[in-house]
Amino acid sequence: MSKLNTIAVIVAAGRGSRAGAGGPKQYRDLGGRAVIARTAEAFLNHPDIDGVRIIIHRDDRAEYDAAMGDLLKHRKILDPVTGGAERQDSVRLGLESLAEENPVRVLIHDAARPFIDEKTITRIINALDTADGAIAALPVYDTLKREGAEKKIAATVPREALWRAQTPQGFHFDKILAAHRDAEGETLTDDAAVAEAAGLSVTLVPGSPDNMKLTQAEDFGMAETLLGRKDREMEYRTGHGFDVHAFEEGDAVMICGVEIPHEKKLKGHSDADVGMHALTDAILGAIGEGDIGDHFPPSDPQWKGAPSHVFLEKARDLVRQQKGKITHCDVTLICEAPKIGPHRRAMRAALALILDIDERRVSVKATTTEQLGFTGRREGIAAMATAAVALPVSE
Ligand code: MG
Repeated sequence: MSKLNTIAVIVAAGRGSRAGAGGPKQYRDLGGRAVIARTAEAFLNHPDIDGVRIIIHRDDRAEYDAAMGDLLKHRKILDPVTGGAERQDSVRLGLESLAEENPVRVLIHDAARPFIDEKTITRIINALDTADGAIAALPVYDTLKREGAEKKIAATVPREALWRAQTPQGFHFDKILAAHRDAEGETLTDDAAVAEAAGLSVTLVPGSPDNMKLTQAEDFGMAETLLGRKDREMEYRTGHGFDVHAFEEGDAVMICGVEIPHEKKLKGHSDADVGMHALTDAILGAIGEGDIGDHFPPSDPQWKGAPSHVFLEKARDLVRQQKGKITHCDVTLICEAPKIGPHRRAMRAALALILDIDERRVSVKATTTEQLGFTGRREGIAAMATAAVALPVSE
């Protein structure tokens, strides 16, 4: 087996009694998926994480298997190991289980923090280039009070230089394993404290306010809200397309799905629908899926004479695959003839029908080039298109 450089150890052995009824919180449903599956996936999907080891309670194997589902087949997932009585014991046992493998780095993370994001993981890994350990943390902004007798304030605690520790907490594997062995029997609240006790240098890197820990029953309500917000977060992309087809002998042209009688036809491998080709390229551009030629090579005889709606449908389906939505498109046709104006409404309707969006989200315009250039000399038609696509924000 090749050496694994960076392993994530996810601590999921707790009973979670503070989170109320319904079993350990890491196996509870959060927006249709178990908390542990969401947490594990964040690490499995990270390009710099080579393996994920989850530490579970000895009674929880069936819940673990059910909660993880298909993730159990992920190439990076290692067999779970059984934890101990306290979190610190569980982490130590998790680290011991990797002793033979001896990875370079280990990131220790609480299963109950399912909103861990790729950027925070990356910051921790990078910080380990110059420190023995690095933890995700946030500066304290609230004023802190120390309670005295009878709920009276005894003192205001200076908050300067105070941080709230989160996980992941990353370390050089050999150093944190040795530190945990030394700390066995003591009670320390996190792995950074174990590292500090061993005299290691541990650096603070910015965590994320979303990286909340599900501790109490109420936290699940807040997590569902956060999840809803994340699901709705979209970003907008635009793409541009351009196409030209020359005239040849014929009696009609096909533009934006509408056949217009004309003294010529457009020459091309397919039905030469110049407007639809430009629009297809614009949509493909918006989602970074190359161009029409990548998906329908002109050298492939099966596309000879093909109706161009096949191309546009392909672009539409690729947007859907990315869970995106085409929000608007705008096509400009450039020619002296035929006259486009009388057909614009039919063109918008035809494009909207193929794209399965409202007609108001489709624009078709036309212009001449004042008899200049190849379009001015009536040698062919050019088309330009722009498409705007909303895509879910990827971490
Ligand atoms: Mg073309």
